[in-house]
Amino acid sequence: MKREAPAARLPITTIVARNSCPICVALREFHNDLVKHLEPDDCGTFCNTHAWAIARAAPAESVATIFLRAVINPEWRAVARAPNQCDFCKKLHEEKELRLNEIAQQLGDPQLRYWLRDYGMFCLRHGRDVTGKLPQDLPRTIQELMARNSGEIVEILEDLLQQLKRGSHAGGGVLGRAAEFLVAQRGIED
Ligand SMILES: [Zn+2]
Ligand SMILES: [Zn+2]
Repeated sequence: MKREAPAARLPITTIVARNSCPICVALREFHNDLVKHLEPDDCGTFCNTHAWAIARAAPAESVATIFLRAVINPEWRAVARAPNQCDFCKKLHEEKELRLNEIAQQLGDPQLRYWLRDYGMFCLRHGRDVTGKLPQDLPRTIQELMARNSGEIVEILEDLLQQLKRGSHAGGGVLGRAAEFLVAQRGIED
């Protein structure tokens, strides 16, 4: 499939300034764009998650064509949610590798590195992924960032537990934040 760079594709250095994991943000935007502009030939195999994602948000004509081909093909089966099985998962995985390499390269700039260490955020999964891509002494910055991130999550969770003991029913935002840190944003990766 040939595909133009989606209009929504922001440079990673812009995304890091948001209060979320930049890889999660980039993948979410990529995913939304892919679904929104889905062509009938973009996917033949898909997992449960991505069948529902396109049913909900992709152009109806493309989805109807894709689903029809599947239904009339006696060999067709839903596949596992994995890059080597689902066409969607595969595209997401390729974009992730691209973005990880992009950010690893940008981290050669000490200014960005120190800014990230002090203010940035990565989810656990993508923080580890980025660390694995960095040469020599650079991983330490990301490890420091991750330590700060997990310290912040511990703090807000302990705070929440205290509040709950006092009978407060708040907490959705904090729990979502912790989930985002632990397992990446909803629907991004298993
Ligand atoms: Zn992430
Ligand atoms: Zn999938």
